[in-house]
Parts: sequence; C-alpha cells; structure tokens
Amino acid sequence: MVFLTVNLSFFQKPSRYINNEINAIHKEAPVKVALAFPDIYEIGMSHLGLKILYKIINDLPYASAERVFSPWTDLEAEMKAKNYLLSSLESNRPLKDFHVVGFSLQYELSYTTVLNMLHLGGIPAETEDRMDPCYPLVIAGGPCTVNPMPMSPFIDAFLIGDGEEAIHEILDTYYQWKKEGDNKKESLFNALADIDGLYVPFVHDSRFGSIHAGSQPPFFINRRIISSLDEAPYPVNPVIPYTAIVHDRINIEVSRGCPMGCRFCQAGMIYRPVRERSPEKVLELAGESLRNTGYEEVSFTSLSAGDYSCLLPLVKEFNKRFSKDTIALSLPSLRVAAINRDLLQEMRTVRKTGFTIAPEAGSDRLRKVINKDFSEEDYLQTLKVLFAEGWQNLKLYFMIGLPTETDEDIEAIPKMAMQALRTAKEFTKRFINISVGVSPFVPKAHTPFQWYGQMPVEELIRKKHFIKQALVKKKFHIKGHDVKMSLLEAAFARGDRNLSALLKTAWSHGCRLDGWSEVFEFTAWEKAMEMTGIDAKDFASKSYDQADRLPWDNIHIGVTKEYLWKEYQQALAGVISTDCRKVCHNCGLECLKKLEKGRSGESEGRTPESLNATKHSAFTFPPMNSLNRFRPVKIRAEFSKTGRLRYLSHLEIMVLLQRAIRRAGFPLEYSKGFHPTPKIAFGPPLSVGIAGLSEYFDMELLPPFDLVVNKNKLNNLLPEGVHIHAMVSIPAQSESLNSFIVRYEYDIRGGDREGVRKFLSETDIPINREKQSINIRDMVEKATFVHENTVNCMVADLGNVKVRLGELLPLVFQVPLESLDITRVALYGWNGNWVKPVGRSSMQLINTKR
Ligand code: SF4
Repeated sequence: MVFLTVNLSFFQKPSRYINNEINAIHKEAPVKVALAFPDIYEIGMSHLGLKILYKIINDLPYASAERVFSPWTDLEAEMKAKNYLLSSLESNRPLKDFHVVGFSLQYELSYTTVLNMLHLGGIPAETEDRMDPCYPLVIAGGPCTVNPMPMSPFIDAFLIGDGEEAIHEILDTYYQWKKEGDNKKESLFNALADIDGLYVPFVHDSRFGSIHAGSQPPFFINRRIISSLDEAPYPVNPVIPYTAIVHDRINIEVSRGCPMGCRFCQAGMIYRPVRERSPEKVLELAGESLRNTGYEEVSFTSLSAGDYSCLLPLVKEFNKRFSKDTIALSLPSLRVAAINRDLLQEMRTVRKTGFTIAPEAGSDRLRKVINKDFSEEDYLQTLKVLFAEGWQNLKLYFMIGLPTETDEDIEAIPKMAMQALRTAKEFTKRFINISVGVSPFVPKAHTPFQWYGQMPVEELIRKKHFIKQALVKKKFHIKGHDVKMSLLEAAFARGDRNLSALLKTAWSHGCRLDGWSEVFEFTAWEKAMEMTGIDAKDFASKSYDQADRLPWDNIHIGVTKEYLWKEYQQALAGVISTDCRKVCHNCGLECLKKLEKGRSGESEGRTPESLNATKHSAFTFPPMNSLNRFRPVKIRAEFSKTGRLRYLSHLEIMVLLQRAIRRAGFPLEYSKGFHPTPKIAFGPPLSVGIAGLSEYFDMELLPPFDLVVNKNKLNNLLPEGVHIHAMVSIPAQSESLNSFIVRYEYDIRGGDREGVRKFLSETDIPINREKQSINIRDMVEKATFVHENTVNCMVADLGNVKVRLGELLPLVFQVPLESLDITRVALYGWNGNWVKPVGRSSMQLINTKR
C-alpha cells in the first residue's frame, strides 16, 4: 500500500508514483493482470509494448490490466523499512494479489530487477516455490525471451514473439483454469504449454529433460508472428504520464522487422519479416492519438524507419494535416542511405527534432563485416545535406569490439566525428553539439555473431579510452554503455540455465536496476561470482563452433541456424548481404512471395495522390490559426493543485495543463520562429509537495472563445486534483503574472511552534544568497496561529529578491521543508491596494498597505 501512505515529498520524482494519470484505466475483473516493467516509471512508460498490452487486456470483458514499475532506491529503502509491498499504480493492489504478473524482458540488465520486484511484491522468486495456487502466474515476453534459459527458474511461461494474439490465448486459458476451480498449478502449466510460442519450463523441461549447452534440444518453441499491423490493436488512448518520460511523445510503429540484416542486430533477426502499417492507418492512428493526449510530437518508430516503403509521401501528408497545429515529427536513427534533402525539408516543417546517425563502425571495411552498406563518401554527402538544412544537433553511435576489428577501425571513429564537426562548421559557420555514443559490442543469440565471444573487458576499456582521448579536447559529448555492464549483458544474452544461480546470488547481495550507473555495483556481482563459482566472463567471452549446440537452440525464431552461419562467414569475408526485400537471402522465413504480393498491393495504395485522397475524418483540430481574422485575446485562468497532484513540479503542472488545453482544442496563439510554442505563461512556481488553492496562468487565444463553456470543457479533461476555478479576459497589455505577484499567503502545518515565535521576535536574520546579504526576517510580514498546528503566513519578495521557501521556512519552522504540510492559499500583487490577479477577488481590498 506504499503509494497511498508515504509522504512522497521525501523521494526523488514523486510524480512517478501518483497514479490517476489521464487515460489510466481503473477496472475490476475476474482475471487481474499486473503488467510489470522491471525498471522505473520513466523507462517502462516509454515502452510501446506495455501500452499495447494494457489496451488489449483492458478491452477483454473478463480481464483487467494495471501497471507496476520498480521503485527507485530511495522509496525501496522506505518500503523495506516499513514492510510495504510493491503495488500497482491503478488500484494500489500488492503484486502478490494479482492473478497474472507479466514481465517485459527488454534487456538483460533488468533481470535482477525482476527478482527484486517479485520479492518486494510478496512473491517467491522461483516457480518451484510458487506452486501453491495462491501465487500469481508469472509470465514474460520481450526480446530477451529468445534465450530464456538464464531466467527459466524464475518465470512460469515465456512468450516468444509477438504478443497481440497470444495474450488472448494465455488469459483465456488462465480464466478457464480458474473457472474450473482445478487449483493445481501443474494443470495450468500443462494447458499453457499447448499454446504456440509459449515455453513453460516446468512442463517442457520435465517432459523432455532440461536444456543445457551441449545437449540435443528435445523440443522446439516457434516464435509467434502476427501477419498484419493494420489489423493489430493500437493504443490510441495511451496513459499520459505526469512526469517527463524517455519517449515523451506519440509513438506510431510504422513497421515491424527490418530487411537490412545488420549482423550484430538481434532485433533485425528476431522481428523478421518486415510488416508495414499502411500510411492511411498510420495517419489515422496519429490523429486519434494526438486528439486523445494533447502531445505536440509524433515519432514514426521502426527498426529502420528510412526503409518504410513510402516514407516521404507519408511525411508530406503528415505535415499537411498536422503542421498547422505545430505537431512536430521525429524519426528514430536513419540509415545513411535513407537520408535525403526532400525528407529533411519535410521533417523541419514544424521544428527540428534531434538527428541521429548510427554508423556503428568507423571504417568501410568493418562496416562491410557488420553489413552496414555505406561508404565514407555517402557519409560525407549525408552530413552536407543535414547541415545545409540547418540541423545543429547530431548524435553518432558506434560500437567497439566488433568481430575482426583492428586499431585502424577504432582510429577511424574519431575521424568520422571530426568529419561531422568540420562539415557542420562549413555549413553552419559554428561549432554544433555533437554527441558520440561508444558502446561495447554485445554478441546476442539468434544473430550471425552468436558464435563470437565478446572481447575482454581490458581491451574494450583501452579502445574506449583511445576514442575519448581523441575527442575530448574537441568538446564532443562522449556517451555510451559501461564496459562492465556490457560484460554482464553479454553473459546473460548467450548464457544457459547455470547463470540463474549467479543472478539470484547477485540480487541477494543488493543488485537491481543494473542498467543505472548510479546503482550498478560490479563489486557485488564479483562477490556473487566468487560465491557461486560462476564467472560471467566465461559466458561473455565464450566462442562457439558451428557444430556446437547453443543454449537457445530450442527456440525457433524462424531464421535458421544455417542462414546465420552463412552470414557469419560472409561477415568474416567482408561481403555485404543486400536489403532482403530486393534479394531474398533465404533466411528461413520463406516470406518473399508474400512480400512481393504485398508490395504490388502497396504500390497502388501508397502514392502521395492516394494519401491525399484519404478522408481526414478521424482528426479535427480547431481551424488553422493563420486563417483567423481576429487579434488574439489574453485570458487569465485561476486554478488549484491539491491532493496527490501537489507532488507535481511546476514544469509537470505546466505540461499537464498545456496538454489538456490542446485536448480541449483551444485556439492557441503560437510564438513565431523556428520553434513555435503556445503563448501560455504561468505565475510563480509552486514546489513539489506544496498544494496551491489559487494559482494562475495567462494564455493568448484566437476569438471567438466562450469563457464559461471552455472552462467547463477544460475541467472535464483535467485529472482529479487540478481544477480551473475562473477564466477571465484581461487587457492585452496586462503586466505578466511573474512581475505582478510579489506577495504570497500560505497555510503551514507542522514544525516547531516555539521556533516560529522565536523567528518572529527577531528583527534581523541575515543570510547570504549568491554573494548578497539579505535580512530574511523582512520577508515574513506576519505569521498567525489559526489552528493548534497551523500557521497562516504572509511572505513577500524584497524588491527583486524573490522568496525561496526552501531557504525561508526551515529557518521559521526549524524543520526540513519536506516535513511541512504547505498550502499556498493566495497570491497578491500591488495595484494601489493588495489584490489577487483574477476575478471578483481582484477588487478585494487586503488590509495591508504596501
Ligand atoms: S525469407 Fe527472404 S525476404 Fe523474408 S525475411 Fe528472410 S531473407 Fe528476408
């Protein structure tokens, strides 16, 4: 029950734990599913798969889905100290009280967090300790399940492949088992093992004997593949987070799978074949999602968005429909060959989002090994186009430790970065921001490099150090994964069941959130290796021969081992394999005919003309601002921030209100220039944890605008805890809220009563602020005990010196700010008298003269 009872002011980013976000679903159903993401809120909420499953499950009549994320370390410590159980956001239900707990395994470094979340949620870590039906069924999906072996003792059933259809079968089976009242986990597991794409270790391993490297795989699990993205359910009503998440925008998956066959890329192999969403559907989903969320940016996500078969017409049509509402478009990293002037010109229509190029290797030779088909000349040409079109932010991604890599290949990386800097200078006449990501190569299961052992840590450190030294003086931002994290990633990516003992021991020594450098402790892992005698380095660096059985051989992803070996040999020979939509390389999926059929169908339906002909019925924003003949009007709104939403920061409340205003369709006026922003200005900020009864913002809108109707409309779109009390028209020349408001009234509970009296009895309490001496006593005009433990406090700025509560209140109340229960009840400005900024109260005379 942690999220309801804890004073979140004491924890980092309380808005992670608030619940009740817009579009969150609160539903009771016979089968309760916890969608557990083994990382913190900002990461999990960015994951599209979680949003898709949240929709699919909540659409089922007999099931409900709720979200559970890992707490950050500060809240986790509190939970352990107070014996609080990890609970879902929606119902605050402890994890152990769900029927099904589904983990998303996106990266190997999240494995310890899975064990930690189970433990914090009151669930034993291993299947064999969960055979009592009182414990939930624990399932997992995501790319890591293509080698499920290291996690197999902890997960009851792994879903391999696409989840859209299989999740129905899993939950139907669970519901049936529950209704029959069988009460034996064994029968549930047996029924689940009959579902295609499900690996149920308890059943498969006992039926056939457990799987170890070297043994013959006695059974195979085939990956689930959905055939059509257009028919797949899509979350057009995603939960809108209060806090900024990693991908804080609408993400439309334009295609799944990638035809380019990069030999290091697991996603490129395990999501084959390429399936595209039709442009009409993409635009329809984008429109609906924008209307339901109020976001200002859409990203077309894909493993290779540049290879979407009609990207340019799609982007053009997108801009035609949405640029008037200042909706920006971003694309994930593009292949060098996919970047062209026309595309860049379209992408900059609203505002330029950042740009990412992933050359991955520094030399032409090594790029042929990994199957990245572009030359130095192509790269230079791309840079020229990019900077000529005005981009001033660039990210470059490289890997080190690739098969056949030499020092010359490493030396070529800084050269490529310098090339970008020089080209940028030539075209923009300035030094631009270039961030260079350098991460160790991690060999993954089901790729052509699955036989190749990772380079020793010392060698990776030496190479990374060389690149850093070469670039650091030129003011590049050097980023990339930690070498020791990559070692663990490599060990678990290609490890077998034996690694589970190391995992459990590392977790019991405090390892979790291993992908976070501020939490990651390699010494704890080393201790676990010593205790178990299992060395992660042995697994990470292990090279296999062609004839060797691999721990993941029983998982069939559709791409054959023969194809992968052939590609490995092509890599060693430095031979490129081209885009498989042009030439099929017979990877095993046998989809060429189907693809050709699809492409011929696409050519009719995917021209710019046909896109233009599409009905735009799904999306109706208000009329274009530029067509409006009236001058903008200025509206002032008074609102409150109370209850759990007092934990929102000033920035978070601004974003929340701006998105609600966009959902309400207010005809906002925008600033001009390269980065148009809505003309909305907020009053003095209110810190995290402090409630506000009369807060204000001003906005410029194009008339006609009905104040009463729109106030009600906006209130209907706001979450509980934020409410608009008044909306009034104010003169265009009105003084800004931030310069008008200089006096603040608070009700404050807690603290030391005697301390307050002592503070008030003083006349001089000097403090230093930024080399300036201030008599902070002068900021407190009055402090009156209105209730046994509540002080009504009137504070004011001293000229240009603003009140800072974090500085002032601990001196007045003799306790840390977070310990106080603070409500800002009113704000005042001087207008001949002290007046509030809005409405009838603005006429109200306050008895103190300035
Ligand atoms: S079967 Fe051919 S076209 Fe299909 S994914 Fe494999 S290589 Fe590509």
